[in-house]
Amino acid sequence: MQPEQLFGMALGIVSPWEVKEITFSKESNRLDIYIDFQKGTQFPCPVCGKLSPVHDTTEKEWRHLNFFQYEAYLKARVPRVICPDSDCGVKQVSVPWARSGSGFTLLFEALVMTMARDMPVNVIARLLTVNDKRLWRIITAYVDAARSQEDFSQVSHIGIDETSVRKGHKYVSFFFDLARRKLLFGTEGKDHATISRFVSDLQTHGGKPEQITDAAIDMSKAFIKGIQEQLPNAVITFDKFHLIKLMNDALAKVRAEEAREFPEFLKKSRYLFLKNPEDLRPEEQERLDSMIPSQCYKSIEAYIHKLNLQNVYFAQSREEATGLLHQWHKRAVSSALAIIQKMAKTVKEHWDGILSHFDNRLTTGFLEGINSLIQSAKARARGYRNPQNMITMAYLIAGKLSFNRKCHQPT
Ligand SMILES: [Zn+2]
Repeated sequence: MQPEQLFGMALGIVSPWEVKEITFSKESNRLDIYIDFQKGTQFPCPVCGKLSPVHDTTEKEWRHLNFFQYEAYLKARVPRVICPDSDCGVKQVSVPWARSGSGFTLLFEALVMTMARDMPVNVIARLLTVNDKRLWRIITAYVDAARSQEDFSQVSHIGIDETSVRKGHKYVSFFFDLARRKLLFGTEGKDHATISRFVSDLQTHGGKPEQITDAAIDMSKAFIKGIQEQLPNAVITFDKFHLIKLMNDALAKVRAEEAREFPEFLKKSRYLFLKNPEDLRPEEQERLDSMIPSQCYKSIEAYIHKLNLQNVYFAQSREEATGLLHQWHKRAVSSALAIIQKMAKTVKEHWDGILSHFDNRLTTGFLEGINSLIQSAKARARGYRNPQNMITMAYLIAGKLSFNRKCHQPT
């Protein structure tokens, strides 16, 4: 067996294709693998499948996986066939080692897709010595192909969350299927038009807006308006995750303000107030306890409001929850802290939506988990310049997409 044949086997190149020659350049760090088809080969017409003779060929090159430090390239002349059926005309055939239109082999792309779940794209780009824009094109092509096969006909419970692309930059809204615990759709913006775009994507995938019975959202007016207009049968729930996030933000503001007054006690203490009390280590609990005699009253008060609000969610029924929320509201509204009063007002304005959590028990807990996956991808990437890239990455991480063979088929 010739080394060329060995290479052909290793690459999975089968008849009528064969490896003709391999050249190796130490100076340019390149390995070039020349592939050709056997003389006289007829290929199936890409339109109708009839075996057709070759009309002409074009030279093409595909980047392959590196062999150690050497960049490897596959090179071949790709035939266009002329179909006996004159309606089909002259068409380029697809090659078995690459997606049509791609400058990379399927193996190279598979490696990129695997790495992209855990590594920032710019790091992969450096490792593989490829421009990151080209990598984003690969990832987007696979994600789009996989999404085009998605079936949303059973979707009835949704959750919506928004996040910034980079700190202080544009926003992206994500729509989740709460039953299947996966990302359905991401779109730029956080206004009510995002709901229209979701509805049209839902319909593209066989879903029906009338079938949406429950929507868990944060208290944004835009989302409320969009849902009332576009999802007529959806009961709105302001979910626990978003309410506690809002309460934590209020607490953080109180603490940050007071930290200026008592830096010795409150400096770098933000995490103490965010932790669940049962998770506090003894020394952390001690530190929190020491804040009371040290007159960090405001932070402690805000912290107690937060714990009491969390406690509402331990209620076993809507009735019990209503009682607990009333108690919470009574204390919060009479607080001397303006930020807490504001929080009380927000809760009052969204009263029914908060309590409907206890009717339908939407399982939104996983939203927090998915959100943190997306946030850590964002942190690894140091934010995204392009909102569309962030959405693509979120589909890859949280879309539970299936990347089957169909995704590779020429389009
Ligand atoms: Zn044909």
